Amino acid sequence: MRDTDSIFIFQKGFNYSQDGPGNRLVYHLSGCNFRCPWCSNPEGLSIDDNAQRLTIDDVVKEALSAKMILIDGGGVTLTGGEVTCQRDAVISLLKELKKNGIHTCIETNASLSGCEEIFDTVDYMIADFKSPFADKIKSIGGDIETIKKNLLYRAKSGKPLLVRVPLIKFFNCTEDTAKAFALFFEELNNTGNENLFFEILTYHEFGKEKYNKLNMEYTVTDGYVTEDDIKILLKELKNKDLKIINT
Ligand code: SF4
Repeated sequence: MRDTDSIFIFQKGFNYSQDGPGNRLVYHLSGCNFRCPWCSNPEGLSIDDNAQRLTIDDVVKEALSAKMILIDGGGVTLTGGEVTCQRDAVISLLKELKKNGIHTCIETNASLSGCEEIFDTVDYMIADFKSPFADKIKSIGGDIETIKKNLLYRAKSGKPLLVRVPLIKFFNCTEDTAKAFALFFEELNNTGNENLFFEILTYHEFGKEKYNKLNMEYTVTDGYVTEDDIKILLKELKNKDLKIINT
């Protein structure tokens, strides 16, 4: 774990609606414990010499100076990489932003244990749920039970949680997978959280070019999904009365 007064990032910028509510100042934190073959940010997988160090004060000052344009319920979003890899600094930063009246959001794979303080502090949480099956999650570096535990923890708090499924042909597109997704999402929904939403994101290759530049191999050849793949998952989710949104 790094020190608590700084975060390490590989990118920052403004984005409207897809990284949380409203207009947001988005920081991409370096480092990830997963290795998804379709990752669109391969340059952010480790905290290396290219990472930019920002103190908590730097970020708070930047957010305050941008406050006027963080409209429509906007604020600061911490995404990645995987934000929870910089847990202690993230906790400090979220608390400071809160103290200064800035709305906070994280995007996470929710796979690390010991992150309850982050989940308790952040205003809006977006979690990628990539597969309901242990072997698939293990293949990218995680443990399904920890992810489920983390999502249930946040869902039970009643605070906003958006669960996203990145739909990828070779990885999570069978009918069995759709049923298993729906079954776990129903469990989340049964917590009674009124602020629980679900979204399907479809595979894209926006990050593919970066692999060449980094001398890395892009191995996905069967990622694109069809309209039918989407319909199959949507049908299962709708059968469970889940709130499905499209950002
Ligand atoms: S969890 Fe996200 S950042 Fe990490 S490897 Fe997977 S897609 Fe990339």
